[in-house]
Amino acid sequence: MASTVVDTNAAIARLMRFLATPGVTGQEAAIAKVITESLREVGVPAKAIRFDDANSRIPVPTETGNLIVTLPGVGEPKSGPSLLFMTHMDTVPLCAGAQPRLAGKKIVNDATTALGGDNRTGCAVLVTLAAELIQHKLPHPPITLLFTVREESGLFGAKHLHPSDLGKVAMAFNFDGRVASDVTIGAVGADRWEVEITGKASHAGVHPERGISATLIFALALAEVHAGGWFGKVVQDGREGTSNIGSVGNAHGQSAGEATNVVTDFVHVRGESRSHDAKFVRAITAAYKNAFTHAVTQVVDADGKKGKVKFTSRQDYHPFRLKDSAPVVARAAEAIRAIGREPTLKVTNGGLDANWMVKHGIPTVTFGAGQNEIHTIKEWVDLIEFEAACQLAVTVASTGSL
Ligand SMILES: [Zn+2]
Repeated sequence: MASTVVDTNAAIARLMRFLATPGVTGQEAAIAKVITESLREVGVPAKAIRFDDANSRIPVPTETGNLIVTLPGVGEPKSGPSLLFMTHMDTVPLCAGAQPRLAGKKIVNDATTALGGDNRTGCAVLVTLAAELIQHKLPHPPITLLFTVREESGLFGAKHLHPSDLGKVAMAFNFDGRVASDVTIGAVGADRWEVEITGKASHAGVHPERGISATLIFALALAEVHAGGWFGKVVQDGREGTSNIGSVGNAHGQSAGEATNVVTDFVHVRGESRSHDAKFVRAITAAYKNAFTHAVTQVVDADGKKGKVKFTSRQDYHPFRLKDSAPVVARAAEAIRAIGREPTLKVTNGGLDANWMVKHGIPTVTFGAGQNEIHTIKEWVDLIEFEAACQLAVTVASTGSL
């Protein structure tokens, strides 16, 4: 494999343009338009660019579908399954109003927002890939580019895409991370769950015995979860995972209970469970459900009446782990060596669009592309890693065999 020289100035200009374009999760229309313009400018024909209708299936308002681009093969093979290059278009809400500024080999932010390198770096890598392939007429198999929506708010674009909309895909390369030579080949699975605890209000000073405290039910359940070793980092019989309670409040996200002299009649709890072992994710969630179901029986009013607990959970995403020997991993590693680096294979405790791609039957690895301190107002982009990711994408696409 020979490595390829990329027009890094053009790549950085693209990235600056994408960083300056708003597009928080669910509101991707503006960034999708700028990416489309940028693709057209580098010679991608309009008919090669389309949107799917995933947004019609996503259960929260989403401005557009996923953006899909098809580039026919050049040289041999012209047809056959494609290589998929993918990334997400959206940024976290904290990025609204970002003002990117070039500072040497970094891009920093003049506004007190997050910058959006997660994941405009990936967007710029994919457009740069198209630009380089077209400009230098590099040989490559059929290529599909996928820019997903709503990754940050729950991997929705990847989850709700129809794999048939992508055509026949051999393997996928996702760009979403920090170091270009880090290859993520596995990720945890997760459940999200919520609990509605209904007690009964009463004057806490005059007739506390007539009340049923939803707060007390919550506290007993949490104590049982903790005592059983199911809170935070979870290790049970050699199986590992994590869990958390992320919010406790009323139904509207405000304080559960309003006054010190009223027995709290309602508490709403939201939490999550994670593990690389799909069965263990469910076991952790079940431990919470059992604890709440048990706790509600322990709190009674003067008439022996109990409160109610409604526990609902949904699988957020599935865990996956590719084999080190999988063809997609081999191709990734070979390309990294071709650009003069050593690949580092990793598994992550966060969810990625790749979780859903693998679930859809498409083996997917994820590279970094220069993100740093994401989801914070200290976020910045490392242009050394961004440039390496651009070079890596071109190398993956234009060398090697399917
Ligand atoms: Zn991301």
